[in-house]
Amino acid sequence: MQEYFVDGPLVPGNTIELAADKAHHAFDVLHLNHETVRLVSDGIGYFAEVFQEGGRKCARILSKDTEINELNTSVILCMALIRREKFEFMLQKATELGVSKIVPFESERCVVKDKKERSEKQSQRRSAIVLEAAEQCKRNRVPEVCPPVRLSDLAGFRSQLNLAAYEKAGSESDHLNDLLPASSVTIVIGPEGGFSEQEIRILSEQGFIPVTLGNRILRAETAALYACSVVGELCG
Ligand code: SAM
Repeated sequence: MQEYFVDGPLVPGNTIELAADKAHHAFDVLHLNHETVRLVSDGIGYFAEVFQEGGRKCARILSKDTEINELNTSVILCMALIRREKFEFMLQKATELGVSKIVPFESERCVVKDKKERSEKQSQRRSAIVLEAAEQCKRNRVPEVCPPVRLSDLAGFRSQLNLAAYEKAGSESDHLNDLLPASSVTIVIGPEGGFSEQEIRILSEQGFIPVTLGNRILRAETAALYACSVVGELCG
């Protein structure tokens, strides 16, 4: 069943006109006609029947969907800027895993520098990726993708539990399951080159607990998805 995020109140029994982009996808791409779709507005899902009538591209709201396909825990993923295709892969998978916000950041050993990553075009592309992923996995919310920040700015994205995945933390350091569950979690994942000693010190001083993700050195995008998966499983 196709899902679309729409604006405005949805009331069972009412008929709305679909916005042009949603209508194009429903009728011209998927060739839907009198099929049922899931429309989400302000975090609530509704089943609706899409149809065309006299040139109008409509959806009749059928009923509220009681399913809330979101984690019980708010997860903020602070992700170092890594190569674009890997970053975009991470955006899609982190959305499927239920994160609520993704904060790109630049650190000393980032291969990718954020000046060209700040462009409006980049921002729109990233938003489109998480929107498509949220619709595909039937979420009730679309994650927010923030403009890139500096590592020192990550203090502004802290939650109840704040973790920094550090490949040199060592087996005696905290593991995720030592610290979870929590009502809200912020996870920081470093770049291909890892964190410098000074960076991990700054993060620790800001209250981010260095945690190990095991003995193997994971690629940044793998580390992000592993951490989000464990948080999702242990926090529900
Ligand atoms: N440059 C580092 C090295 O070669 O040792 C590898 C960095 S790793 C590719 C990228 C990021 O993934 C790290 O900064 C860290 O945040 C996370 N990461 C990867 N493996 C990890 C592990 N075993 N424990 C904790 N964090 C890990």
